[in-house]
Amino acid sequence: MIRDQKRLDELLQRTRRFVREVAIPNEDRVEAEDNVGPDLVAAMRGIGSFGWSIPEAYGGSGLTTEELALAFMELTQCSVAYRVVGAQNAGIGSECLIRDGTEAQKQRYLPSLARGELIGCLALTEEMAGSDATALQTRAERAADGSYVLNGAKRYITLAPIAGLFTVLARTDGSERGAAGVTAFLIERGTPGLTTSGSTPKMGQEGAPIGEVYLEDCRVPGEAIIGLVPGQGFRTVMKCLNKQRINLAALSTGPAIRMLDEAVAYARERHQSGRPIGEFQLVQAMLAECKVEIEATRALILETARKRDRDEDVTMDVSLCKYMATEMCCRVADRVVQIFGGQGYVKGRGIERFYRDVRAARIYEGTSQIHLLNIAKHLLRG
Ligand SMILES: Cc1cc2nc3c(=O)[nH]c(=O)nc-3n(C[C@H](O)[C@H](O)[C@H](O)COP(=O)(O)OP(=O)(O)OC[C@H]3O[C@@H](n4cnc5c(N)ncnc54)[C@H](O)[C@@H]3O)c2cc1C
Repeated sequence: MIRDQKRLDELLQRTRRFVREVAIPNEDRVEAEDNVGPDLVAAMRGIGSFGWSIPEAYGGSGLTTEELALAFMELTQCSVAYRVVGAQNAGIGSECLIRDGTEAQKQRYLPSLARGELIGCLALTEEMAGSDATALQTRAERAADGSYVLNGAKRYITLAPIAGLFTVLARTDGSERGAAGVTAFLIERGTPGLTTSGSTPKMGQEGAPIGEVYLEDCRVPGEAIIGLVPGQGFRTVMKCLNKQRINLAALSTGPAIRMLDEAVAYARERHQSGRPIGEFQLVQAMLAECKVEIEATRALILETARKRDRDEDVTMDVSLCKYMATEMCCRVADRVVQIFGGQGYVKGRGIERFYRDVRAARIYEGTSQIHLLNIAKHLLRG
């Protein structure tokens, strides 16, 4: 649903200007420094990306699902690190709190998350709990005074090394596995017993660190439980991820749009056998295949976003979007490396960076296999 086309167009224009004038010229620097510097973070604060999904009452833009998808497709036409740092707060960094937090919890955290002064992260995955997140082993024992003591370790947590607010999923009912006894806690950096690793070395997305979160006798008050009700954590996280899967689909479409733009320009510029390579029909086919897939994915995402905005059930649709967009983006990256030939493989044009950066999206927030299973489950349910 688009509430005010003119206001949305202005937001998209601002974002486009940031991408073209600030983000793209600094992509190599972000990769080389493995950091999105303070000047770039300030520029993203200027376009408001940290608070796009946060309700206006707490200082955000309160974008609808459709508006957010369009904004994300615009923001992600530059290297992936920008949107991880500048827009995680508009996704998994705040969504559990928005869905199920109490008014006091929202008042406490959402305004600074919306301004990008506080970085939020979602700490679910553990060594023995990946695709099967219900196997998580982090425990939170309730003490006599109503506080909870957490022990466990999380891994691969996006922005953990720089985050200030951690949504931590822990088991509160003494069980060994299953979703029922899992509770979501909001824990601030600086709380004794919560520490993080440095940045875990990875294939791409330089500038967007992931890391481990350690909980060692980390004591938090009962008021740290999202919504104050124990045992609801898994439900909360699934609500968050349901929306996030549409977001991630949009976040995977922007890079594909950018890569195709680069490939079209290169197909005009690069000559072989006395002609631009764009005149070769085999190159044309690769360009056209990218375009078909991008447009089909874009249409599916926007239709799903509109359905969600109408409060319709989108539990299967979000898997369609996440699977289709992340797989599409990797196919586009592969074709675009091919169109650039050697220039696609060596550093310099940023193509190999996209190829590495976008690969992760088929793994996180549910692997492609998990989404295929979810789609099949819905189909077979009849
Ligand atoms: C860059 C990056 C950022 C991340 N950020 C976060 C974050 O912010 N917060 C967070 O909590 N987590 C995060 N993760 C973790 C991510 O969500 C997990 O890596 C993902 O859920 C997969 O879990 P796993 O790595 O343990 O793989 P596994 O679950 O061990 O899967 C290994 C393989 O087995 C397949 N498989 C597993 N189970 C099944 C099944 N039932 N049927 C068929 N195939 C199956 C998978 O599809 C995959 O191919 C991040 C990961 C990466 C790489």
